[in-house]
Amino acid sequence: IAHLSDFFNEHTLGRPIELIAMAGREIDAAVIAEHQPDILLVRSVTPVNKLLLDNNKSVKFVGSATIGIDHVDVEYLAKRGIIFAHAAGCSKHSVAQYVVAAIANLRPDYLFKPINLGIIGVGNIGNTLAQYAISYGWNVLGYDPLKPPSVVNNAKLETVLQESNVISFHVPLTHAHNSSYPTHHDYLMTQARWQTVSDTAIIINTSRGAVLGRDDIVASPNVCVLDVFEHEPNIDAELLKACSIVTPHIAGYTLEGKLRGTQFVYNALCKYLQV
Ligand code: NAD
Repeated sequence: IAHLSDFFNEHTLGRPIELIAMAGREIDAAVIAEHQPDILLVRSVTPVNKLLLDNNKSVKFVGSATIGIDHVDVEYLAKRGIIFAHAAGCSKHSVAQYVVAAIANLRPDYLFKPINLGIIGVGNIGNTLAQYAISYGWNVLGYDPLKPPSVVNNAKLETVLQESNVISFHVPLTHAHNSSYPTHHDYLMTQARWQTVSDTAIIINTSRGAVLGRDDIVASPNVCVLDVFEHEPNIDAELLKACSIVTPHIAGYTLEGKLRGTQFVYNALCKYLQV
């Protein structure tokens, strides 16, 4: 913080900058209205939306040191002319390694056997996971309707759900208003689609909690691995009991991933400030 403070005082647009450090959940609309910051840097626990920024006229730049951006109302920021930057891909290896480690932990016999690994969402993380999978001799069944078909991304959703030994989710959380292929469980993993999944498949969700319905997980016979939860940090006991591995949203939490995320936002901010 001290380093950043010196740096920005030297380089900002001709006036000193006040740097206020707060933890995610302490940042609320009243604090933002009182301090009127020009720049807001957050991680995934601070919802950045109209409610937070309505009484702030000065924010010009929002940076989120995260891959996921479902906590940010990007359309509202664009309407206000606020520049937004996030850290695409920063922890892709960490998340992919978490998935491989979970599989190795649950089914060591899967290593180097030609199992089918279903990947829903073949972006930065999905692609990285596919490369690890290929090196383990696994078959990759990738589904991503928003990407042109490729070697790791040419399966139909039905095939992925029916034929995979492991299904891993790597989609952003989206809804009908912001995607033609929404990923919230009302649209993608509906109850009907859960019925088509093999009972023996391992389900892994490191994307966002609401991609899978809590009741569907509890009712399913599958071995489930969850790093993310719809109402995190609140997790009910029944859901916990239904899972084989649960972790508190830490799949991307490595030193390398966090450093890359912070560095990305720092660089974007420097570019914005032209320093
Ligand atoms: P990305 O944007 O590079 O890739 C997401 C992919 O999902 C894209 O290729 C997109 O086309 C695809 N997609 C979108 N809608 C889809 C749909 N309906 N069906 C199938 N595919 C769809 O993002 P990424 O870097 O791979 O990260 C994916 C998500 O992982 C992030 O949005 C974030 O929510 C989550 N994440 C979690 C952690 C963690 O610690 N658990 C860390 C980093 C990221």
